This record gives sequence, structure tokens and C-alpha cells, in this order.
Amino acid sequence: MAVIINDTCINCGACIDECPVEAIVDEDDNPTDEEIYYVYSDKCVECVGHHDEPACATACPTEGCITWDAIGESPEHREDITDDQRSNKEPVVE
Ligand code: SF4
Ligand code: SF4
Repeated sequence: MAVIINDTCINCGACIDECPVEAIVDEDDNPTDEEIYYVYSDKCVECVGHHDEPACATACPTEGCITWDAIGESPEHREDITDDQRSNKEPVVE
């Protein structure tokens, strides 16, 4: 994984066009069939090389709906994010 959208997502759509690598899909295309937006972890680069912080989380109006997750198959990841931040699924933006 990389960043993950949790079930507090309100399907507002603010994140999807901000992603530089088109890693986000809406609820209609969510492969888990949950009625929330979804991040493909094998596409998400945590905005490395694109933005100072993940653009999806910056755009998201909720508190903590986009969190860090394990690195997994992400092609790029932020080196300054600790294992604790990832395993605790801390919000990307407070
Ligand atoms: S962190 Fe960046 S690359 Fe990953 S889903 Fe969000 S906007 Fe896309
Ligand atoms: S910006 Fe946040 S609340 Fe809106 S669709 Fe994306 S993850 Fe969900």
C-alpha cells in the first residue's frame, strides 16, 4: 500500500484530479466494492517528485480520511515516514 482512503470518505471527488499518477478511482470503480474512493497502491508514489506532500490528502476536506499505509508495491515512497506512522495509519494531513 502507500496511502489509503478509509471509510470516512464522503465521496466528494476533491482528490481524484489532484493525483499526478492517476492512482485514485471513485466508488464506481473501487475494486473492493466499498462505496468510497480507492487508491491503487501499486500506482501511488506518495507524490514523490510531484508535490511536497500527498496532493490527495491536501485536497481532502475531511479529517484523517487519507492515511499512511504500508509501503508494499508502491513504486516510490517517502523516506521520512516512520513504520509507526504507517502501521498506525496516521492521517497524512492532520
Ligand atoms: S499520495 Fe499522491 S500519488 Fe498517491 S494517491 Fe495521493 S495524490 Fe496520488
Ligand atoms: S477528497 Fe477525501 S472525502 Fe473526498 S473523495 Fe477523496 S478521499 Fe474521499
